[in-house]
Amino acid sequence: MKNRKVVEVDNLTKTYFMPGGLSQQVLRGISFEINEGEFVAIMGHSGSGKSTLMNTLGCLDRPTSGKYFLAGQEVSKLTDDQLAVVRGKTLGFVFQNFNLLMKRTIADNVSLPLLYQGVSKKECYERASAMIERVGLKGYADRIPNQLSGGMQQRVAIARALINNPKIILADEPTGNLDSQTSDEIMSMFQDLNNEGITVILVTHEADVAMYAKRLLRIADGVIEYDGSIKDYFVKEDK
Ligand code: ADP
Ligand code: MG
Repeated sequence: MKNRKVVEVDNLTKTYFMPGGLSQQVLRGISFEINEGEFVAIMGHSGSGKSTLMNTLGCLDRPTSGKYFLAGQEVSKLTDDQLAVVRGKTLGFVFQNFNLLMKRTIADNVSLPLLYQGVSKKECYERASAMIERVGLKGYADRIPNQLSGGMQQRVAIARALINNPKIILADEPTGNLDSQTSDEIMSMFQDLNNEGITVILVTHEADVAMYAKRLLRIADGVIEYDGSIKDYFVKEDK
């Protein structure tokens, strides 16, 4: 299964159309492939389109033009129901602000993707408990998010992202709200997951966070400005 493509985007563009006739082209023809097991960092200035690209990869938003193949299937050709299935079994999401349901327990938050799939409450709770333990939060299943530190809340989000055994984790600035020590702990978790074979696609604007990845995609002015080894980029650019 080596070198199996899990993501392929071909000449992707995205234009936002505003009411009143204004429009802004954010992605101007982006092409790349990602193989199973890669760890890719996406970097670029604020406003360069990183989240737009991630939301497209996550099928949360559709491109204006271009092709996107996720796990071998062309996303634009899938019905909403088919897309929901492919997304559910292929992708896990982690965001900067954790995106937890603040009034629900940690166990509820982690089992949410399973509940959507119609898994029984009992099995949800058992699988969530195992995942909560795996991310180092044994004993916290019945707490609510604001009883936990930011780093712990991000672990909950990672457990939720992992509960369906996704092929790919999409993480958009997952350490953006965390101090540097906690950031390192969270990034070590992504590194472990990648070592287990999960493909990780990470958006960050911090070089020391990006250095956990092996490959860098740098976006500028809506196009890919660099695609290659992350070490080479930072050694050559000396930044
Ligand atoms: P980044 O994540 O790199 O900071 P984004 O993808 O969030 O960049 O945004 C890229 C550009 O697209 C920005 O100029 C932003 O204002 C604009 N943009 C993002 N989302 C929308 C939207 N839903 N409608 C209109 N413009 C948007
Ligand atoms: Mg962003």
